[in-house]
Amino acid sequence: MILTTEALVLRTLKYSESSLIATLFTRDHGKISVLAKGARRKSRPFSAAIEAMNHVRAVIYHKPQRELQLLTQCDLVGRYPAVAEDLTRMAVGMAAVEILHLATEHDEPHPEVFDLAIDLFKTLQNATQRYPNALYAYEVRLLGLLGFKPSLQQCVSCHGGLDTSGPAGRTLRLTANGVLCGNCGESSETGLLLSRASCAALASFQNVGGIASALRIVLSPEMSRELHNALQHLVQVHLTGMRQLKSEQIFSRIQS
Ligand SMILES: [Zn+2]
Repeated sequence: MILTTEALVLRTLKYSESSLIATLFTRDHGKISVLAKGARRKSRPFSAAIEAMNHVRAVIYHKPQRELQLLTQCDLVGRYPAVAEDLTRMAVGMAAVEILHLATEHDEPHPEVFDLAIDLFKTLQNATQRYPNALYAYEVRLLGLLGFKPSLQQCVSCHGGLDTSGPAGRTLRLTANGVLCGNCGESSETGLLLSRASCAALASFQNVGGIASALRIVLSPEMSRELHNALQHLVQVHLTGMRQLKSEQIFSRIQS
C-alpha cells in the first residue's frame, strides 16, 4: 500500500553510508519507522527534508507486517529554524518530539496529537518570549488527548471544589490523576505539593484555545518551576514509562 501523509520527523539515525532510518509521526497513520535510502546523499531531493522537528509530506511504501517501512518521497512542508536559535526553544522542541516518540505506538493514528505538535512548533517559531509556556500547554493537552487528562478543577478524592475546602492557604497535592483539595491533601503523603495559583495556571493551560494563547499567561519563576516539575511528573507517570527526557538535561543547565 502507498501512503501519502503529512508527518513530523521525530528522529533520524544513520543507517549506512548513504541511508537513514527515520521515525515519523504521521497525521493519518500515527508513528511509522522508515528507511530512507540515499537520504544522506546531498543529491537526493529529500535529503534536506528528513531532519528532526521538520514538518514534511511523506510517501511511504507500507506493508502491514513489516517493522521498517520504505520512504519513497519526502517534501518539506515547514521548517522551524528559530527553534534551534536558543537553548530554551530547542529544549522545548526536543521534549515535544521525545515525548511523542515514547508515548505513542506504531500505526496508531492520533490526528489531534499531530495538529497539537505542529501548533507547538509554529508557535515556537514565531514566539519572542515565555517559551516554556508552550511546553506546559503542549504537555497538559497531550495528556488529555492520550486519555490521561488530570482533574484540575475539583478534588479527585472528594470531588469538592479546590478553593473552598481546607484551611485557607493550605497547599494542594497533585497526584497522577489530578489534584487533591486542602482537606484530602492533608491526610495524604503521596503526590507533589502544588500551590493554588500554580494549579489554576495549569488549568488555564489545559483550557487555552491554542498554544499561542498560552504565551500570554504570566508566571512567576516559582510558579514556572512548580509547573515544570508537576508536568514532568505527570508525563513520566503516564507517557514515557518513567523515563527521564534528554531535554531535561538542557532545562537543568538553563535553570542552574
Ligand atoms: Zn478533597
